[in-house]
Amino acid sequence: MKWINHKILTFSIIWTITDSITAGIISAFGSIFPDAIEFFVYYIFPLKRTHRTWSHWFVIYLIPLILISISHYLILNQTFAFFIKFFLIGALFHIAEDSITGKVPGIILKKKIGFRFFKTGSFEEYLFTFTFSSILITTKLFNLKV
Ligand SMILES: [Zn+2]
Repeated sequence: MKWINHKILTFSIIWTITDSITAGIISAFGSIFPDAIEFFVYYIFPLKRTHRTWSHWFVIYLIPLILISISHYLILNQTFAFFIKFFLIGALFHIAEDSITGKVPGIILKKKIGFRFFKTGSFEEYLFTFTFSSILITTKLFNLKV
């Protein structure tokens, strides 16, 4: 999935769920992290690039998210914890969104799972993003009950 679609989808879903524009924006930034860290690492280390492998493994985002959530009361800087939590949630959304345009690692890193409902960057991907996000944003703006 293209970065613009990751950002739009993640923002609209998180904003709808949490009622927080800040959470939506932070998670939109997190929603490009798995690709960004992959580009960065392979730029620094000229290794053979493997797309959607370790950087797209949900476990590396879910474990810190769980740790931050259960130690919530031990963290003094709640703003920082809020930022990290929604950033990690955004990264998890990236992986879920990528799984509808291809395969991502499952429980086991080497075993990939996913669907290929449409190709990355295809008209269908943009149409899906536009339609799904429009429904969410319209529902939110007009405070409609679903
Ligand atoms: Zn990706």
